[in-house]
Amino acid sequence: MKAGAVLLAGGSGRRMGSDIPKQYLPLAGRPLLSYALDVFQKSACIQEIIIVCETGGEERLRREILQAQDGSEVCARYPKVSAVVPGGAERYISVCHGLRALSPDTEAAFIHDGARPFVTEALIEQLSALVQRHGACAVAAPATDTVRLVDEAGCAQETPDRRFVRLMQTPQVFRYPQILEAYEALLRDASAAATAITDDVQVWQQYAPAPTPVRILDGDATNLKITTPLDMRMAELLLADYSR
Ligand code: C5P
Repeated sequence: MKAGAVLLAGGSGRRMGSDIPKQYLPLAGRPLLSYALDVFQKSACIQEIIIVCETGGEERLRREILQAQDGSEVCARYPKVSAVVPGGAERYISVCHGLRALSPDTEAAFIHDGARPFVTEALIEQLSALVQRHGACAVAAPATDTVRLVDEAGCAQETPDRRFVRLMQTPQVFRYPQILEAYEALLRDASAAATAITDDVQVWQQYAPAPTPVRILDGDATNLKITTPLDMRMAELLLADYSR
C-alpha cells in the first residue's frame, strides 16, 4: 500500500510563551519537529512526507530543519520529503493543504501533529495494517480521569462511561482519495467555520463519501502533544528515560 504522511507544523504555538514557532523549539538540543520527521523518514511503511509549515515559513523550515542548502525540496537527510507547503489559520485548513500535495497515487494518508515527537515506527506499522484492513484508524489514549460534560455556565452535566472514553491523538490514518474528498467538502462547507473541527476522525465521519468505521488503537500518554512549557519539561524527562 503506497502511504504518505502529512506532518503538521503550522499554527503559532502561542501557548509555549515564546516568539519562536514551536516546531523550532529545542528538545534536548534538536528542533521539536525533527523527532517525528526522523521516525516517518525511517519507517518502511511510509514512502512520501509532506510538511505543512506556518504561512511564509517554507524557507526557514528547509534551512533549519531539512538543512537543504540549495533550496531544493529533496535533501540528503530526508529524501522522502517531497514538498513543504504553507498551512492555514486553522488546523483543518493546514491538513487539507498537506493532503492536496501528496502524490495522486497515494493509497493511505497518515496525518500527524509535528508537535507529537514520540510517535514510533512500531505504532506506524500497527496503523498501517489497520488502515489496509479497515480504511480508517487512529491512535487514542484510554481516559484515566473521569470525563464530565459541562454546560455554558460551567455546571456539571452527564458523565460518559469511562470505559468508552478515548483521548484522541495522532497519527490518524485514512484511505487517501476518500479523506482528500472529505477535506475538500469541508472547505467548501460555509457552515463548517462555526463547527469546532479539532480532529481528522470527525472530518472522515462527517464529510467522507461512504466512511467506514474508524478503528481505534489504544495508545498511551507518552505520545504527548507539546502545547505548553510543562509538556516540554515532560518530554525532556521522557527522553532522558529513553536514553538511559
Ligand atoms: O495547536 P495544536 O497544538 O492543537 O496543533 C496541533 C498540530 O496542528 C500541531 O502540530 C500544529 O503545528 C498543527 N497546526 C497546523 N496549523 C494550524 C494549527 C495547528 O498545522 N493552523
